[in-house]
Amino acid sequence: MINRLHSLSTLSENLVNRNAAKGLCVGCLSPDASNGLCSPCRADLPVNRYHCRCCALPMAFAGADSICGECLDAPPAFRRAVIPWRYQYPVNTMIGRYKYSQQRKFARPLIAGLAANLANVYEGSDANRPQLLIPAPMRPARRRKRGFNQTSDIAEHLGRALDIPVSTRVVRRVRPAQAQRGLNRKARLANLRDIFKVCRNVPERVAIVDDVVTTGATVRMLAQALQNAGARDIQVWALARTPG
Ligand SMILES: [Zn+2]
Ligand SMILES: [Zn+2]
Repeated sequence: MINRLHSLSTLSENLVNRNAAKGLCVGCLSPDASNGLCSPCRADLPVNRYHCRCCALPMAFAGADSICGECLDAPPAFRRAVIPWRYQYPVNTMIGRYKYSQQRKFARPLIAGLAANLANVYEGSDANRPQLLIPAPMRPARRRKRGFNQTSDIAEHLGRALDIPVSTRVVRRVRPAQAQRGLNRKARLANLRDIFKVCRNVPERVAIVDDVVTTGATVRMLAQALQNAGARDIQVWALARTPG
């Protein structure tokens, strides 16, 4: 089972590295895997079943129309968020290995799952389909340090799967935000104000692509900047959502 991911030693990690190319499960090395996960390991992923219909904030129980307090108080500029998993074990471990060690195979099952989820939504209908995918921009310094921008990587995969163009040049992050941790909602939003600059024309329908949505403050600000620049139908697509 996927619990073995928790204790992957360097040795077994090397084994996963060697074997992922052969299509083995990244959770348990079972050969019976599709997109890098076997069925039992896939069943262990924390699905974000009950959530706010607007920002996908996990809720204990929610109907199709449930909306969280924050979206009710201050509706975001985006129409909805498609975020299939909760940022809990093993999804957090998988995303961590992808992001910080650039081991793409750990994110592959999640990215393929998100693409399949979106393909179902858009099957046969182009009216609501975004015209452009915009990866949430990372600060240049951080990108240089990490040498890899996971949001662009995810957007490229989704763009190929759904046949939607991707642009990393529409929005720039113009200044770093201070750490968001410990700030209340008002302070978080003030901290993020004007950190994004839209540099190019924006089509009417766009989707912001991110790896993990935490407080939601960053995607709210990014969506606002895109709306100010002319986007009318904005979505957020991400792999995982933290509880708030
Ligand atoms: Zn498995
Ligand atoms: Zn919400």
